[in-house]
Amino acid sequence: MAGMFNSGVVFANRFTQALPADSIVENYCRQVRSAAFSRVRPTNVSKPQILALNEDLAIELGLTGLLADSTALAQVLAGNNVLSGMDPYAMAYGGHQFGNWAGQLGDGRAINLGEVVDAQNVHWTLQLKGAGPTPYSRHADGRAVLRSSLREYLCSEAMFHLGVPTTRALSLVTTGDKVVRDMFYDGNPAAEPGAIVCRVSRSFVRFGNFELPASRGENDLLRTLLNFVIKSDWKDLAHQLNNAASEKTATDVYLEWFQRVCRLTQTMVVQWMRVGFVHGVMNTDNMSVLGLTMDYGPYGWVDDYNPDWTPNTTDEANRRYRFGNQAAIARWNLYQLANAIYPVVKDAKSLQAILDKLPGEYEREYTDMMRLKLGFRQAHNCPVSLIDDLQTLLCLQPTDMTLFFRLLSGFDPQNPECRLSELLQPAFYDAGETSTQTLRSYQVWETAYRHGLLQESGDQQRRSLMNSVNPAFVPRNYLAQQAIDAAEAADLSVLNELLATLGNPYQEPVPTNQHFGSKRPDWAVNKAGCSMLSCSS
Ligand code: AMP
Ligand code: MG
Repeated sequence: MAGMFNSGVVFANRFTQALPADSIVENYCRQVRSAAFSRVRPTNVSKPQILALNEDLAIELGLTGLLADSTALAQVLAGNNVLSGMDPYAMAYGGHQFGNWAGQLGDGRAINLGEVVDAQNVHWTLQLKGAGPTPYSRHADGRAVLRSSLREYLCSEAMFHLGVPTTRALSLVTTGDKVVRDMFYDGNPAAEPGAIVCRVSRSFVRFGNFELPASRGENDLLRTLLNFVIKSDWKDLAHQLNNAASEKTATDVYLEWFQRVCRLTQTMVVQWMRVGFVHGVMNTDNMSVLGLTMDYGPYGWVDDYNPDWTPNTTDEANRRYRFGNQAAIARWNLYQLANAIYPVVKDAKSLQAILDKLPGEYEREYTDMMRLKLGFRQAHNCPVSLIDDLQTLLCLQPTDMTLFFRLLSGFDPQNPECRLSELLQPAFYDAGETSTQTLRSYQVWETAYRHGLLQESGDQQRRSLMNSVNPAFVPRNYLAQQAIDAAEAADLSVLNELLATLGNPYQEPVPTNQHFGSKRPDWAVNKAGCSMLSCSS
């Protein structure tokens, strides 16, 4: 099979060409030192079948040559056929997991195939997740199950269409092989269908790629990696780095790079907060240096608004990665990145100064985002207290976050008869049970909100502005689970309908898709996959 299929695609392999490779080429688990990656080929699977293919993305990436023959394409997307020009490899990285240094982790089941270059000369790495063991597999099997792969495919594309920075997904294939997982970590392992997602990103470099060489004192590798990342993903900084005559100038470039990583990371979290996304495993090995949401595992979507909610059962006790703690964790992770690059930057004071500014910068960006969600274009009309009080209001009774903001655009400040507590009824989980105390709080907030909106000029555009930042559709946990249950029974209709709807998440619901905008049904409250998830994937 290998080499039989001429895709016409030219692959670039900057990572493997520019960075030091593991000198061992056999595929067995080991500590890999003084190297950024290990060459490794995907392990064949028995019967690849495409469940979902992102044709729009394939076309954007110039992969039309691959689309003509779907049987041949399935072989490529399952890792059975490594095309000529691909140079498959697994990255070496470490990471802090749940706040503790975990040492070497690395791509234990992800294999990068190579980079394709689009019409704008942007490089995109294709990566198969679940393509078999690598030197970084640490006694695990290198595989992924259908349920977690479908969740990644669905959510990363939903995030893209919501306008949240993210890695993309090109395809979802089943392998025809079974994968054994103890889904509930309760001693009952079961065989599940195996699957592979082809992920696409401008870069898969994580904070952990820097932490690993730093932890080992491999400062040459650290510098080489930092220069490589800047040169490949930050053209303007690359230019400055090339012209750096003195060490001082190079340090300035590194500091500027770090500051940009901080900004992108914080912007990503602000966007998560906008749409109600909880990553669930914000370990430093899951943090992209391009500020992209990556490694979709036990993530979740906020149904009833609750800053303390986490979807990840492994994190149930400490709730480190809870919805409302994501900005603080992003900062903690950025501290780890600063520590990691310090041996190259050698300017602790400046790194610290950048870190010190993060809370203020985040607060500003978060507040601006919330003002838009509330429909304000003029900041002075929306005092910060309105946003703070809203948070309290949303927690008074179980309130669906997505529906709340979508319905809020129907509020008419000119009409004194318009009552928020009535308008928002469909967002309340305990309809008809609103207490007098809660109603009073709603009235107080409504008065302040009405007052602010009446100061705004051009009220006509408010509704469309709000509906462009407050989605009608997000991949609610129970919807993803319904798509999984159907797909496991060979029915792809739910997945396909959901994908079509989530491709346009700000549209007004119509009769054929409005069920995807409904709040979580009662049966889903305690059903596995619909509220809490384990890391088993
Ligand atoms: P995650 O929590 O999914 O981000 O994974 C953390 C680390 O465990 C990464 O180094 C993964 O590559 C590795 N890993 C997770 N699942 C597997 C698996 N089934 N086989 C090999 N490595 C895995
Ligand atoms: Mg990971």
